[in-house]
Amino acid sequence: MTRPAPVRDRLAFEHRTLAQRVLFGSGRAAEHLGTEVDRRSARRVMAVVTSSAAETARRLLDGVEVAVWFEEVVQHVPVASAEKAREVAQEHRVDLVVSVGGGSATGLAKAVALTTGLPVVAVPTTYAGSEATDVWGMTEEGHKTTGSDDRVLPRTIVYDAELTVSMPVGLSVASGLNAMAHCVDSLWGPRANPVSTGLATEGARLLAAGLPVVVADPQDIGGRERTLAGAYLAAVAFTGAGSGLHHTICHVLGGRFELPHAQTHAVVLPHVLAFNAPAAPGAALRLAEALRSEGAVTGLRDLYDELGAPRSLRGLGLPERDLPEATELVLRQVPASNPRPVDHDSLAELLRGAWAGEVQAGGGPSA
Ligand code: NAD
Repeated sequence: MTRPAPVRDRLAFEHRTLAQRVLFGSGRAAEHLGTEVDRRSARRVMAVVTSSAAETARRLLDGVEVAVWFEEVVQHVPVASAEKAREVAQEHRVDLVVSVGGGSATGLAKAVALTTGLPVVAVPTTYAGSEATDVWGMTEEGHKTTGSDDRVLPRTIVYDAELTVSMPVGLSVASGLNAMAHCVDSLWGPRANPVSTGLATEGARLLAAGLPVVVADPQDIGGRERTLAGAYLAAVAFTGAGSGLHHTICHVLGGRFELPHAQTHAVVLPHVLAFNAPAAPGAALRLAEALRSEGAVTGLRDLYDELGAPRSLRGLGLPERDLPEATELVLRQVPASNPRPVDHDSLAELLRGAWAGEVQAGGGPSA
């Protein structure tokens, strides 16, 4: 591995540490949820639950009096769903929202919190990481709007790796790589700083250690725990660093073309890394170390091979004719912090590579 020359740049940064309680323990979600509901003296709980997690949620909330169950969770939080959930919360005089499910359930709970100020306790069942960010997102007519607001940050996260075992291996891999994308994009996000970079690097290390175990033995709780802990660090890193080029691309692909969230992140990540790594040798070196590889791009490629990760936007159902529109939409929003200049042709090439599933060689010793 080639070490870059010593860095002599000056250092100045702003970092916010978000106030949040995190309870992490396999098989302990019901106990931790009960403790949190009591601690908050909540009397009227609204359970926002992904339909696939409905049975699990009823088991977890068995000892809690739930005022209302809300199970109409739709990906990317359509505005109409958010409005309906808010009305239900008001109608039932809810004092605490408990979400059980992936990023879509967490996202809906956040949408309720955004306008009502209600506290949220999040119980994630995927590796999406939304529970650890103050970012909300909603969609309407093919347009995704996002923002950050203190009110939407779940006050407590209850992590239980056993709840992620029911994810099929393919979804586990895609979701874990969504978390890896939080780590990688954090390395060059607009507010990237030593705190977010430290979290991102350790998050990537945990994900690279956990995901191969998940694939080899999906029931192995140790592998699931490392992946879930990595996903948490990834999300905290991402909140600190802010959204980079990768998230700009996926935001457009998910919002405008309705591609599945985790799989889209998994497909796009190697392309953004190959594009940026030669212009970001420090980030590439850190990532290579976390992946225990000679290079960041090759390390990620080897991990993808081992995991059987999804490779192409074509495979996710994006028609080739949509690529020019996607290029135009992304080009308007490219973050100024991106380590490499992005123009129309380079972005079009990157997206075509992601569509076809062919990574363009990034080059450079650390790549
Ligand atoms: P998801 O919540 O939409 O879940 C995907 C599918 O998996 C659904 O069908 C769901 O029912 C199922 N599922 C969830 N957990 C399962 C489990 N344990 N076992 C079996 N099936 C399970 O997908 P996601 O990738 O977790 O979240 C995507 C959404 O989260 C997007 O809307 C995205 O924008 C948002 N998100 C937001 C942030 C943020 O910081 N605001 C971060 C990450 C993701």
